[in-house]
Amino acid sequence: MQELLKKSAMEQSKALKNKEVSAVELTKASLERIKSIDEKLGAFNSLTEDTALETAKKVDEKISKGEELPLLAGVPLALKDNMNLIGSKTTASSKILENFVSPYNATVTEKLLQNLVPIVGKANLDEFAMGSSNENSAFKKVHNPWNLNKVPGGSSGGSAASVAACEATLALGSDTGGSIRLPASFCGIVGMKPTYGKVSRYGLIAFASSLDQIGPFTRTVEDAAALLEVISGHDPHDSTSLKLPIENYRISLNNDIKGMKIGVVKELVKEGLAPDVEKAMQNAIDTYKSLGAEVVEISLPNIGHSIGIYYILATAECSSNLARFDGVKYGHRTDNANNLLDMYCKTRAEGFGPEVKRRIMLGTYALSSGYYDAYYKKAQQMRRIVTEDFLKAFEQVDALIAPTCPNTAFDLGSKTEDPLAMYLTDIATIGANLAGIPAMSIPAGFDCDGMPIGLQIMSPQLSEAKLFNIAYKFEQSHDYYKQLANI
Ligand code: GLN
Repeated sequence: MQELLKKSAMEQSKALKNKEVSAVELTKASLERIKSIDEKLGAFNSLTEDTALETAKKVDEKISKGEELPLLAGVPLALKDNMNLIGSKTTASSKILENFVSPYNATVTEKLLQNLVPIVGKANLDEFAMGSSNENSAFKKVHNPWNLNKVPGGSSGGSAASVAACEATLALGSDTGGSIRLPASFCGIVGMKPTYGKVSRYGLIAFASSLDQIGPFTRTVEDAAALLEVISGHDPHDSTSLKLPIENYRISLNNDIKGMKIGVVKELVKEGLAPDVEKAMQNAIDTYKSLGAEVVEISLPNIGHSIGIYYILATAECSSNLARFDGVKYGHRTDNANNLLDMYCKTRAEGFGPEVKRRIMLGTYALSSGYYDAYYKKAQQMRRIVTEDFLKAFEQVDALIAPTCPNTAFDLGSKTEDPLAMYLTDIATIGANLAGIPAMSIPAGFDCDGMPIGLQIMSPQLSEAKLFNIAYKFEQSHDYYKQLANI
């Protein structure tokens, strides 16, 4: 049974349909694995055993009646703990929401339940999804399954670690500036951020609403395509949700990419790459050439500004979004307040961690009168310029490639004292959020210490089918994705 947990979601689906295993058995195996190894990993904030087994039973009933199964039915999934699952805690890994129980389901959760995907637990994250290493969780750190002394990447570190360690076969994360792609890269799995508006944000705890997007973590590209099919689609509860039909991304995965043009982002490969990451990039270029694609160098002249732009816009949006956590409506309220203002102040001082406080202060400053034009407005203008760089690039190429991160997973504790060094890990991922384009990280090799390296592929808005196709062709040319963390 433990062997089956290591298979892809598609293979697990097949085993269920062929009655080699029941959905209850598979779900129980996932829960048992979590219970036996998660003490070392810290990937889960809580387990949702009852919901998972209830869903699995429904799958088995369908199988016994000979009914057709929905896509991914019975395949265990971990939900990032900033998405609502009715009746279970949604903590966002923050003390302020430590005992908050979701009163309703997020739209993605609703879709998973409709498709009978058992949700085994809520995955750890950086508090309110702010961070790159998962060390900002108020509860516990997540460890990288490839080396327990290293970070898994953040903010969706628990989601990524759970899939890399085969605790769950699928996971959902949210990506505001790289929080799906960075941990996917550090943990050696597939992570995908869809076009802004493809997946509903209803029931996701908002960080920076103009950038947040939910997406899949899997061990294969095909599984990621399938999971995006399950969770995407228009939702009237999210005003930024796109009114477009749900696509089948799996049918075009194996299309020939001969003649396609792929651009290597010049600014993201020219300096500062770890030597093994540089080699992996060269290998990716050679692979695409051997598959018949034309590989050219492309410039995104303003991409170097993306971190600066992001830390104005994301903090401004978060200072506004997090104003709702005031001790009145949600979560923690201080015990020793003298008056209303004192209650607000003490509640927030006790409930938020240091990184969240730093962001709220930065954002409030950037939005304050007198500074708004100099910071917030300027950052909005620069966001448009970066987006235009991408639009110009996509006039010349079908997709762009770059490393997901200039380096592989770093040691736990090595950047916690230096927020700026931590922010710089997102240099290659933030651009896609600013431009709202789809982007993914896929396994692309290992460094000399055996840590995984991620290749990032980005494509124009709404070209997910092409993105998956280009990713799949690379994946199938190597066996990186077949290598699993030994835990
Ligand atoms: N690491 C980035 C940050 O700290 C991105 C986080 C995210 O995508 N949620 O804000």
